[in-house]
Amino acid sequence: MTAFAPDHAQLPGWRHVYSGKVRDLYEPLDGRDDVVLVVASDRISAYDHVLATEIPDKGRVLTQLSLWWFERLGGIPNHVIAADVVGGVPAAVEGRAMICRRLAMYPIECIARGYLTGSGLVEYRASGTLCSLPLPDGLVDGSPLYPVLFTPSAKAEVGEHDENITYDAVVTMVGDDAAAQLRALTLELYTRAEAIARERGIILADTKVEFGLDPVTGLITLGDEVLTPDSSRFWDAALYAPGQAQPSFDKQFVRDWLTSDASGWDRTSEPPPLPDDVLERTRARYVEAYERLTGRPFV
Ligand code: ATP
Ligand code: MG
Repeated sequence: MTAFAPDHAQLPGWRHVYSGKVRDLYEPLDGRDDVVLVVASDRISAYDHVLATEIPDKGRVLTQLSLWWFERLGGIPNHVIAADVVGGVPAAVEGRAMICRRLAMYPIECIARGYLTGSGLVEYRASGTLCSLPLPDGLVDGSPLYPVLFTPSAKAEVGEHDENITYDAVVTMVGDDAAAQLRALTLELYTRAEAIARERGIILADTKVEFGLDPVTGLITLGDEVLTPDSSRFWDAALYAPGQAQPSFDKQFVRDWLTSDASGWDRTSEPPPLPDDVLERTRARYVEAYERLTGRPFV
């Protein structure tokens, strides 16, 4: 497939090397190969499409929320080196960028699920399993899962759909030792974050993280973003009611509008631009997630 090349800033001292659905990656022009600049854009993706409309401030929310979580997850190595101009972040992207250790990323999305919903619920209804693991009978949308499950998927190219894989497939891809560490780190991260979110009245239903190997330290290290509305399902604990879809702090307004008659979208072509009210409500939802979790106003 053709390389994905959305608009991105030209930054003095840095060369653009890659764009994912949401983030742009840069390497230093001075030849250092152990760091990258990770810049979160305001792009939003839904149904495996990057939409034509950007959500103002989304890149800053994702970056600031990730930094807040990285600080609270001490003990799990993470890639952050600096996130301000003093530390070397270009002024043009300050607030939504981090200078990070350059990792050799594992091509695996490490997912922990504490509740049954989404694609997991679809599989459970069809076969009584989740990522091929058998589950008890009688579970409904939003049922808690005991124990919390590690349900990895293979990372797809931009525009393709990530594919669920078994733990044994992870072992085949990365070896016994790395697979065991990826599972243990993902479940530890979920368990710690779930408790922190719960104190703030938010249920962390599931989350996706990406790890890489740091060639300098030799440690499996947390990369990308963590515990944002893009990578996680956050539910309002006060409204939680299993047996129905839970309202969540993410792209729900975007998905609802895209699949409604109002959008006229046929799901095969590129999605249409978002109307202003959908855009504004989505922005407010991202900001609310940041403020509820961190207890800080978003400025
Ligand atoms: P999505 O996260 O929406 O599933 P994606 O991962 O393809 O899709 P982005 O998150 O926008 O899209 O892209 C960021 C890219 O940067 C990913 O390929 C990720 O693996 C990579 N990356 C993140 N942190 C580092 C790092 N410290 N070193 C090297 N690559 C990194
Ligand atoms: Mg990513």
